[in-house]
Amino acid sequence: MKKFGIIGPGAVGTAIAYALNQSGHNVALFGRSNSTVSFQEYNHSEQHEFTVHALQDAHEPVDILFIAVKTTQLDSIIPYLNNVIHSNSVIILTQNGYGQLQKINHPYKYHAVVYISGQKDKNSVTHFRDWTLKLPLDNNTLELQTVTQDSLLNIECLEDYPEHVWYKLIVNLGINTVTALTRQPAVVLKSNEVKTLCYNLLVEGKRVAKAENVHFDDDLEESIMKIYEGYPDDMGTSMYYDMINARPLETQYIQGYIYNLSQKHQLSTPYLDSTYAILSTF
Ligand code: NDP
Repeated sequence: MKKFGIIGPGAVGTAIAYALNQSGHNVALFGRSNSTVSFQEYNHSEQHEFTVHALQDAHEPVDILFIAVKTTQLDSIIPYLNNVIHSNSVIILTQNGYGQLQKINHPYKYHAVVYISGQKDKNSVTHFRDWTLKLPLDNNTLELQTVTQDSLLNIECLEDYPEHVWYKLIVNLGINTVTALTRQPAVVLKSNEVKTLCYNLLVEGKRVAKAENVHFDDDLEESIMKIYEGYPDDMGTSMYYDMINARPLETQYIQGYIYNLSQKHQLSTPYLDSTYAILSTF
């Protein structure tokens, strides 16, 4: 039986632990210190308690390791990775943004496009929706899909993985940028000026994707704006919550990843350039 481990007992990490635990998998959750975290589904009262083991003191390697700390916290866990992996372990980074996988020195590593929505408040995680991790297709990811197929977790192994990476990057570029900068949740799109800014960010994100040989349909921006329109007015984004709570922002690997490629390809992306410049100051 495969041994699973998760670093980061937060919204995404605890949801993965719950999903695997429900179907009887062997799962260890690693955090900053020995503690517990509780998990519940949105609108359900049933709570599930998980033990969290201090990563620094861990010494039992796992076969499949999910890393679910924020991008801004990745550097702090890297010195302890060898506490929980062996030479054939498979590492799945479950973070927003892109480009951070290069920080991990290990042969079997993957960056999942994450569709698991939840929030951690103190020691409690609430899961809102979705259980999907999108991964590139190869033997390791197919094996992960097979061993988790009886669980809530939905592992997708995709030949067109780069398109999915870019789609999520562009979705985050629009709404995360405007909600963080204005410190307002989705209601901010009711302002025509902010809506136009958001749309222009999507146009520029698509331009950078194209330069990276990832091509989307002409109506990509309209279809993403339609998705945003479905958001409840009071819905925030992770970057909005980080901004209003004065926590570090994941700018470097979301807007920054796209910005750096825009610079590399010498593209004109004035909305991206200016919003990225301001976000980088936080
Ligand atoms: P959370 O802040 O909820 O969870 C991060 C967890 O990592 C926290 O429990 C934190 O501990 C823990 N952690 C931080 N530093 C360390 C350390 N040095 N050692 C061990 N554990 C540590 O983040 P999310 O789960 O929300 O986000 C994770 C990633 O997933 C982010 O990149 C995010 O953008 C992405 N994502 C999140 C979604 C969501 O709905 N939440 C949706 C899609 C993507 P502590 O609690 O003590 O701070």
